[in-house]
Amino acid sequence: MKAHTAYLWMNTSERYEIVNITDKVENELKKSGIKEGLCLVNAMHITASVFINDNERGLHKDYLKWLEKLAPYSKDGYNHNLTGEDNGDAHLKRTVMGREVVVAITNGKLDFGPWERIFYGEFDGLRKKRVLIKIIGE
Ligand code: ZN
Repeated sequence: MKAHTAYLWMNTSERYEIVNITDKVENELKKSGIKEGLCLVNAMHITASVFINDNERGLHKDYLKWLEKLAPYSKDGYNHNLTGEDNGDAHLKRTVMGREVVVAITNGKLDFGPWERIFYGEFDGLRKKRVLIKIIGE
């Protein structure tokens, strides 16, 4: 079995942002040389997500709107912010959107459904964060 590990550095220019990272994951898969196996991609920070869905701009706006309704930004509306932070909403948003995805690798390619792409969801941006890519197989 082979294993390939890579870290992507993210640094969004907005506090809330959804970034398509599919090309970067495919690039690491190519480097790995693995033809059959599994690819894990996870956010390494508790205020950011990795998820799979459609690469459609309207949907991304809908996600951010929906998340803002579920867990609106509020400096003093969260117990977590009593620690002096202001990102209580971001922790909740991250939990809803998930920590990681696993994609099967078949014939050297990410074995997606027709419209599936991998996204990084940032909910407390404007700073450097990492995403882990771990590919195992042969
Ligand atoms: Zn926090």
